[in-house]
Amino acid sequence: FEEDLPDAATVTRAREAGGTEVFETAQVPAPTPGPGQLLVKTAAIGVNFIETYQRSGVYPVEYPFIPGAEASGEIIGLGEDVEGFSVGQRVATTEATGTYSTHFVVDAAKAVAVPDGVTDEQAAALPLQGVTAHYLINSTYKVSPGETVLTHAGAGGVGQILTQLLKAKGARVITTTSTPEKAKIAEEAGADYVLEYEGFAEKVRQITNGMGVPVVYDGVGKTTFTGSLDSLAVRGTMVLFGGASGQVPPYDLQDLNKRGGLYITRPSVQWYLRNAEERSWRLTELFSAVASGDLKLSIGSTYPLAEAGRAHDDLESRRTTGKLLLIP
Ligand code: NDP
Repeated sequence: FEEDLPDAATVTRAREAGGTEVFETAQVPAPTPGPGQLLVKTAAIGVNFIETYQRSGVYPVEYPFIPGAEASGEIIGLGEDVEGFSVGQRVATTEATGTYSTHFVVDAAKAVAVPDGVTDEQAAALPLQGVTAHYLINSTYKVSPGETVLTHAGAGGVGQILTQLLKAKGARVITTTSTPEKAKIAEEAGADYVLEYEGFAEKVRQITNGMGVPVVYDGVGKTTFTGSLDSLAVRGTMVLFGGASGQVPPYDLQDLNKRGGLYITRPSVQWYLRNAEERSWRLTELFSAVASGDLKLSIGSTYPLAEAGRAHDDLESRRTTGKLLLIP
């Protein structure tokens, strides 16, 4: 048992479901680590789209709700039976709860040590978007060298990582963005073709000599879904992994047959971090790529924790590129 553990934590939480005005800063009793858990003093917090769905009420949660699953920081306390971690070590996770806080607890099994050469900010920026990009192209649909694939929102957080990992695999990347500034960012991440959303499916056909692509990674959802299906080759795979523009309405599966026997899946991170081996495979590869400089993380903006509402406003209003972080 450690001495000098904090009594209180400062959190930013949603009072009720609603717009960003429901956020408030509060002092709460500091979390205590149970058996197998770490108590971490937060260094940086990753902001993710899912937290906007939880705050607004699109995804059901109980209020007051402290959002956040992703963060980095220093271990300041250990629960019983923790092996392989010690006080003072730097860790990161994307599987904690309530990380919009100066302190959080996480199961040791769901935390990873942050290697030298990776900053606290990078460590908070990488896990969720990195693991997402990793499982999408290695597990959901395994991309082969030479394949041409379509991903949307190429200047976004997941988008920029996805493009870099796809290029490293030897794939050709077509992506979409909404502004010329974002198009430049997507190109810098390595995209071969950056399209506007308007008429993208037709352009994908032209680029692929009429064939279409074997896979679309679509995190935009409502506004791109039909165009994404239009972009697929016969027996192509539609990977719907998010709804930045809104959720896709109910869909008639017969349509998959009419379009050439397509496949469709709606994955999320939890189904691709099923055990220690899978977690370690993905995160070790990602962290070493960041440490070696092969994978560049674009941190779009950092905000004080108390201004989480501003981060959500920016994310939802489409103003951002790269990753958003909160700093306690
Ligand atoms: P991004 O940084 O990609 O931000 C979302 C982007 O989507 C915007 O910047 C914007 O880019 C584009 N977009 C298109 N239409 C809209 C719209 N109407 N409103 C807002 N944005 C729009 O966010 P993330 O990288 O954090 O996440 C990307 C997607 O991936 C989200 O849908 C998220 O929920 C999902 N996700 C899914 C996971 C999973 O495991 N299933 C895990 C992590 C994220 P532009 O202006 O260029 O169009």
